[in-house]
Amino acid sequence: MKVVVLGAGIIGTTSAYFLAKQGHEVTVIDRQDSVSMETSHANAGCLSYGFTSPWASPGLPFSVLKWVLTGRSPLIINPNMSVETIKFIYRIYKNCNSRSYEINKSRMLRVANYSQKALLEIETDFDLYYEQKKQGSLQLFWDSKEIEKVQKDIAILDKFNINSKILSAEECVKIEPGLQYVKNKLAGGIQFMDDFTGNCYLFSTEVYKKCVEMGVNFEFNTEIKSLQISNDRIASVSTDRGEIKADCYSVSLGSYSTKILSKIGIEIPIYPVKGYSITLPVLSNEDAPQSTIMDEKNKIAITRLGDRIRVAGMAHLTDFDKNLRAKSLDSLMNGLDLLFPKSYESSKETNFWTGFRPSTPDGTPIIGPTHFNNLFLNTGHGTLGWTMSAGSGKLLANLVSGIDPEISTEGIDMSRYRFSNKMIKNYG
Ligand SMILES: Cc1cc2nc3c(=O)[nH]c(=O)nc-3n(C[C@H](O)[C@H](O)[C@H](O)COP(=O)(O)OP(=O)(O)OC[C@H]3O[C@@H](n4cnc5c(N)ncnc54)[C@H](O)[C@@H]3O)c2cc1C
Repeated sequence: MKVVVLGAGIIGTTSAYFLAKQGHEVTVIDRQDSVSMETSHANAGCLSYGFTSPWASPGLPFSVLKWVLTGRSPLIINPNMSVETIKFIYRIYKNCNSRSYEINKSRMLRVANYSQKALLEIETDFDLYYEQKKQGSLQLFWDSKEIEKVQKDIAILDKFNINSKILSAEECVKIEPGLQYVKNKLAGGIQFMDDFTGNCYLFSTEVYKKCVEMGVNFEFNTEIKSLQISNDRIASVSTDRGEIKADCYSVSLGSYSTKILSKIGIEIPIYPVKGYSITLPVLSNEDAPQSTIMDEKNKIAITRLGDRIRVAGMAHLTDFDKNLRAKSLDSLMNGLDLLFPKSYESSKETNFWTGFRPSTPDGTPIIGPTHFNNLFLNTGHGTLGWTMSAGSGKLLANLVSGIDPEISTEGIDMSRYRFSNKMIKNYG
């Protein structure tokens, strides 16, 4: 079957890989000149199979209040909010309760868990290097109350056989020696032993090369304008370089999915939550992070990618404004200085980057069919698109091919928003 994948970010690339592996004739369309040049380009690099959590949690409203009062907020909301921003905040708020959190976290973990297996499948299919480290990840706690809170999550983690362990501050320093300078301030941490770290862009380019070998056709520098409909089916994709026809279509345009889908009456609640990252060269290996460290209080992730350190975080609600905000650079630098003060070369240039996380209010991606029977969605991966990419690509390919999905699709496709009263409630 001829399949067109719209978007060559990490989600479009893994979709193309699994579709080609199943024998389809695949074309991928993207406006950029290579794969993963937008949100998938310089994300934090955490493959957070165990750490997978929705943003909307029962504690979020209180945290927001605290951030506002202390003036040190990882969340920035532009004062002249658009209707879309207000809607997103309201929908997030409606998911900030224990019941929704548990449902949403379980769904996300289901996709993440499957994604780890699918990534290992890609690794056995062919050799690829993406600065991967398989040393787990560490979430830090500054306060013993945070440790009590995380105990609740452990029950959900156990259900998915996620290997995790609560650590003392000393034990944290043992696995991440660079944390020695903050040992006395830390209350401890939780280690997710099966988490990985890796460069999403590098992974995408390796998978892209393999896709080309497998016969996938990439149409780069091509702007998608709209989808054409005929008899309740998608007839073609209109681009600035002409019409592209196929038997089946899959949308993975990240935050921009809504712009194309709303033109054909598909309204999905994806909002572009802007985040930032900095990448700097390592100065001293012993003082640098070895794998992935998450500081939930300051909402940053610090990762080791080869001979570089990446620090990422912040949530800026500003629609599609791509400006690099200088204050966000300072916040990320402060976060790094606090945890790994002697790790990086300050004299060398810092690579400052921004991207839009394609975020749903319930944190779960949208993977599955639409009411057009040859149109599928694989989008809305929010804060965890790199983590969920391989499983999302494989699930999408199975659905397109009519192969029984290897995981339950309950609560993962768009029907949770539109058709089920229970889920509409959950969506808000
Ligand atoms: C600061 C930051 C840190 C992050 N850290 C992590 C992390 O550590 N771990 C993790 O799992 N996730 C992380 N994420 C999230 C992750 O990066 C995203 O979920 C993921 O990249 C989304 O991939 P995507 O393919 O859906 O979107 P994208 O990568 O944005 O791909 C969409 C593609 O569609 C193309 N496109 C859009 N519109 C059009 C059009 N009209 N015509 C043609 N082409 C078009 C774009 O060019 C782009 O290539 C982070 C995100 C940010 C911003």
